[in-house]
Amino acid sequence: MRMFHGIGRLAIAAAMLTLASGAQAQQPPLKIFDAHMHWNQEPNPFYSLDKIVEVFRRNNITGVLATSRPNKGTHQLMDAKPEGLWIVPFIRPYRVRADIQTWFDDPSIWDLIQDEYKRGYYRGIGEFHIYGKSALSALVKRIVDFAVERDLYLHAHCDEEALLILFGHNPKARIIWAHTGFSTPPARVAELLRIYPGLTGELSYRGGISAGGQLTPEWRELFTRHSERFLLGSDTWINERWFSYDAIFKEYRTWLAQLPPEPAGRIAHSNAERLFGDKMPN
Ligand SMILES: [Zn+2]
Repeated sequence: MRMFHGIGRLAIAAAMLTLASGAQAQQPPLKIFDAHMHWNQEPNPFYSLDKIVEVFRRNNITGVLATSRPNKGTHQLMDAKPEGLWIVPFIRPYRVRADIQTWFDDPSIWDLIQDEYKRGYYRGIGEFHIYGKSALSALVKRIVDFAVERDLYLHAHCDEEALLILFGHNPKARIIWAHTGFSTPPARVAELLRIYPGLTGELSYRGGISAGGQLTPEWRELFTRHSERFLLGSDTWINERWFSYDAIFKEYRTWLAQLPPEPAGRIAHSNAERLFGDKMPN
């Protein structure tokens, strides 16, 4: 009887082990926050709202930093409240593509930001494009100060010179650096992260992270030391990016899997949860 009991226990233990490893194999893919999503509509969106939500679902994207040009797309997304999707809306300072070249000296963009802000749900301003000394404009300074006063993030697509000017306008600025400088040397990125505690790097189009599917040593080191300072993004600025959406996140997942679970989880979603103060749906 005792022996039988022993065998029984063994069998149960073996069954539990099988169950446990089965559960591990079937673990859902890491949930990811897309911190650079545009749902542009000029005059109409290429993908419907249902279609983009479907694209997010199949990629296990359960949160997005949402912007659109014009902001109508973000309004629609906020009104729709798609189930299982956390939306962090940012004010895009553009009505049409041409505004990218002129917004920083255009007083009507200030009015646009003020009008949008009245909606009460925005968490930031951007993505905006700014290069070099254009960042010195009085309007840019006014927008940076406004963001700091209202606890808004800035999502800036900029070179290093403009980045330093933005922080010079107001050192309390909290800036999500779109593309993390594209090609700024990783050692310099690390230095900037140390100098500016309000800086977070967003990694769409960022070069040098992996080569042949393998994380490069410089970026492994950067992610090991500063995993709390990065976000992932799709940057769906043109339709082609919607077509390659699955491939973009497949590539992210490939190198995330080469990091320990904790830093990988931070970059995938926990950093966004910490920055924007909410929990991503599972
Ligand atoms: Zn963009």
